[in-house]
Amino acid sequence: MEYKVEHIGIAVKSFEKSIPLFEKLFNTTCYKTESVDAEGVNTAFFLNNQSKIELLESQSPGGVIDKFIEKRGEGMHHIAFEVADIYAEMQRIKNEGFTLLNEHPKEGADNKLVCFVHPKDTNGVLIELCQAKK
Ligand code: ZN
Repeated sequence: MEYKVEHIGIAVKSFEKSIPLFEKLFNTTCYKTESVDAEGVNTAFFLNNQSKIELLESQSPGGVIDKFIEKRGEGMHHIAFEVADIYAEMQRIKNEGFTLLNEHPKEGADNKLVCFVHPKDTNGVLIELCQAKK
């Protein structure tokens, strides 16, 4: 199955600081913010030409993004690859021995089904597979 980089996720402490920063960097406005309550995460999206960036902020202290920042600091959190059939791809890479962080695709931001691959199997990089919901 072909992979295409869909977006890069960046963990930040506060949207208040980081949204204006990325708006300045890309000379564009944040086109969408969305809360993913099930994950305790707020997301903010930027598009520059074909390149999409997702900022991630913890909804409350001690959330997954907070824990990530505590351990590794602010910065790149994951790379998301778009696949045509997330169910088939999850099965394929599971058979190849990769550890999936969720057994079934879950609802992600930006109208996507998503699955995460454990970074211990991918040289420390958290990989997100995503598929646009039909
Ligand atoms: Zn993402």
